[in-house]
Amino acid sequence: MRSVATISENSAFDVARLRADFPILAERVYDKPLVFLDSAASAQKPQCVIDAVSHCYSREYANIHRGVYYLSERATQAYEDARVKVQRFINAASEREIIFTKSTTEAINLVAASYGGATLKEGDEIILSHLEHHANIVPWQLLRQRIGIEIKVVPIDERGNFLLEEFEKLLSPRTRLVAVSHTSNALGTITPAAEIVRLAHAQGTPVLLDGAQSVVHGPIDVQALDVDFFAFSGHKLYGPSGIGVLYGKADLLAAMPPYQGGGDMIKRVTFEKTEFADIPGRFEAGTPHIAGAYGFAAAIDYVSAIGMEAINAHERELLDYATARLQEINSLRFIGTADDKAGIVSFELDGVHAHDIGTILDREGIAVRVGHHCAQPLMDRFGITGTVRASFGLYNDKADIDALVRALGAVREIFG
Ligand code: PMP
Repeated sequence: MRSVATISENSAFDVARLRADFPILAERVYDKPLVFLDSAASAQKPQCVIDAVSHCYSREYANIHRGVYYLSERATQAYEDARVKVQRFINAASEREIIFTKSTTEAINLVAASYGGATLKEGDEIILSHLEHHANIVPWQLLRQRIGIEIKVVPIDERGNFLLEEFEKLLSPRTRLVAVSHTSNALGTITPAAEIVRLAHAQGTPVLLDGAQSVVHGPIDVQALDVDFFAFSGHKLYGPSGIGVLYGKADLLAAMPPYQGGGDMIKRVTFEKTEFADIPGRFEAGTPHIAGAYGFAAAIDYVSAIGMEAINAHERELLDYATARLQEINSLRFIGTADDKAGIVSFELDGVHAHDIGTILDREGIAVRVGHHCAQPLMDRFGITGTVRASFGLYNDKADIDALVRALGAVREIFG
């Protein structure tokens, strides 16, 4: 039973009421209440998102940008309205700067292939950090194979802090792009994005932020950040999977060649040549995730109504509570205690493999992520193969953390 005392003290934030919006949270697993602590991998969906996707398929579905008939026009309008919602949500200057992709991964691949392929040449340098998800490493390695760029990596300290001074040292006249995580999915570290952008811009170098984790934990203002590219996924923001966003400054996007060719990204095609559409259509070849845009728009409305500041405050409270309570577990070692962190805790238990912990927790109905979190270079940095990671969403409460601590206590008893 969840007692009122364990519900967030952030009184404006009624977590019990919000939990009721997420039907899956009422599920039982192995006949135990579900304790979902893996929102960093993918968040659960509120009923309004499920309804919006269902509404599209049951009432308004047709392909977009093509039909002259009613359904197609309705779906096209909804898709373009979703773009405007995303624009306002991250405070982009224009909806033309919002490219729908399938995910953060595709957004970064788009920048690497299109911007990178067109503007970088052999010997040019790009800068990543040691915190990166594979989605912000591998596309750059593919580009390196293609054209021979050099990849420099900003180190982090023992606590997982991004080292700004080291970043400054790596910046050189040969640096053509900086692509770094805004918030680490594995450790929760929030990187000093505004400073990174300021330093890079001081020598005319554009910056891409991998915002897959940052966009879910607090408000994002791409104009205030002055960032050049910003990538994120709908599914981590309580929306559907299969739809994501690349934000890019209009002048940069407008100068970039297409990433993929096909329908919907052209003005005129002959067998001799193709004239490409303007942005954003130029980067949206083929039929997109139409119902996904309905769901994504509903998710943005949902979190906006709660308020990203309020979500941020709630998750910070959970982070503090979890950090304090997990210290009760004998020989638990946190991996990642950076100065500025989002609602993610990563840890290991001395003498117990992360997968064993994950399996025992699962039998208690507790879903956590175990392993390398698609950040193997980061695990290598700490000399480990993986961690147990609990990540918080707007629907988590202190009872979830109490359940985790209780189950870890049981793990400790089993393994001594
Ligand atoms: N970057 C970060 C920081 C992430 O957490 C993730 C998802 N775990 C990704 C990129 C990739 O996101 P997606 O799988 O939605 O493309």
